[in-house]
Amino acid sequence: MKNTATAINEIRARIRAAETRFGRKPDSVRLLAVSKTKPAELVLRAIECGQTEFAENYVQEAVEKITRIGLPELTWHFIGPVQSNKTKPIAARFDWVHSLDRLKIAERLNAARPDHLPPLEVCLQVNISHEASKSGMSANELDELAMACNELPRLRLRGLMALPAPVADFDQQRQSFYEVKMLLVHLKRTLPELDTLSMGTTQDMEAAIAEGATMVRIGTALFGPRE
Ligand SMILES: *Cc1c(COP(=O)(O)O)cnc(C)c1O
Repeated sequence: MKNTATAINEIRARIRAAETRFGRKPDSVRLLAVSKTKPAELVLRAIECGQTEFAENYVQEAVEKITRIGLPELTWHFIGPVQSNKTKPIAARFDWVHSLDRLKIAERLNAARPDHLPPLEVCLQVNISHEASKSGMSANELDELAMACNELPRLRLRGLMALPAPVADFDQQRQSFYEVKMLLVHLKRTLPELDTLSMGTTQDMEAAIAEGATMVRIGTALFGPRE
């Protein structure tokens, strides 16, 4: 595995190249470093390269890392499935939750968000998949969830997150991200303040940027493959 500094510089260059190629504004795409399963030492190396935003999937592992690193200026994003018995540590230790897909979880996070912290930034996760058996939320269900979340004072709804099933074909990748973008366009008719599309990983970040991603979540290309 190449060292973290080289990897970060290469990803930053990929993001810049994609912004240019697809007519996006410079610096309109934020890099979230996905550090799940990776030790705090690697996170610290990324911090030395100026990286400030990190994403984690597993609550206990993340809380240990956040505590160990102990730098309040970092931004921590929760991107894994949210179990209802884990909403308290998530609401207390994270700045963002990208993987919200149920009102019950939103209500629990809202209730658990400590008063001394600003509202928790949240994205609704939409399930975009071409497998007919795996249908996600309908557009109507998404509308209802978005409106309900928007009423919760300790949450701040920012937009949508998606993790489409991996495919190699660029146009197919774009098609999935296009569908996410159109769902956001639709939601913005009633919630114009929404501004976030969290989509794109190591395999498909260019396609996501082409379709308007404002945050890409990169693990493997930064920290190497996971076990
Ligand atoms: C693990 C993970 C990523 C990072 O994927 P890579 O292929 O390692 O870049 C991004 N988003 C979510 C939701 C993940 O679980």
